[in-house]
Amino acid sequence: MWSASSASGFGLNPERIHSGVVHSLREWILSAIRNLERIHSRSEWTTFRRELCMDFNLDRVRKNIEQSTTEDLLDRATVYRNGMESDALDLIDTELERRGITAADIAQHFARREQGVILLSDGTAQPCSHCDRPAVVRQWSWHRIWGKIPVFPRPYWHCEEHRPK
Ligand SMILES: [Zn+2]
Repeated sequence: MWSASSASGFGLNPERIHSGVVHSLREWILSAIRNLERIHSRSEWTTFRRELCMDFNLDRVRKNIEQSTTEDLLDRATVYRNGMESDALDLIDTELERRGITAADIAQHFARREQGVILLSDGTAQPCSHCDRPAVVRQWSWHRIWGKIPVFPRPYWHCEEHRPK
C-alpha cells in the first residue's frame, strides 16, 4: 500500500515514519507543508489529503505499539494476526525485534495461546470481555445495568486471567 501511494509522488516519506524518524506532530505538520507546495491540481489535492490521513493514522498506531506491553504485542502478532492491517503488523514485528523478542519466543507464545483459544470465523481469536487477551472460556451470564440489576442473559468470554475460579 505504501509503495503504491508514495510512487504517486506525494507520500510523506512513509519510510521515515517506519524508521521512527518522524517523532512529533510538529515535524508531521512541517512535512505536510513541504508537500503542499507541490500540489497543482484538484486530483493531486485529493491524493495528498488521503495520504495525509493515512500517515497520521499510522503514526498513532506506531505510538500505541510503542506503549503496549510485550504480551499484548505477542498476542497481536499471533492469535490476532489475521485481523491486523499489514502496515500495523510490520510495526509490531519491528517493535518486538527491538525488544529482543526472537522468532522462537513468538512461536512459543503462539503454542501456549493456541491451546485454549476460541477461534472466530475470520480465523482470529475471540478477545476476553474484560481485557485484550484472547479468551479461553465462554460462559452465559446476566448482563447487569450499573453492574447490579440483571436484565438479560448474554455470553461472556474470559481469558486465563479473568476466568471464574
Ligand atoms: Zn481478560
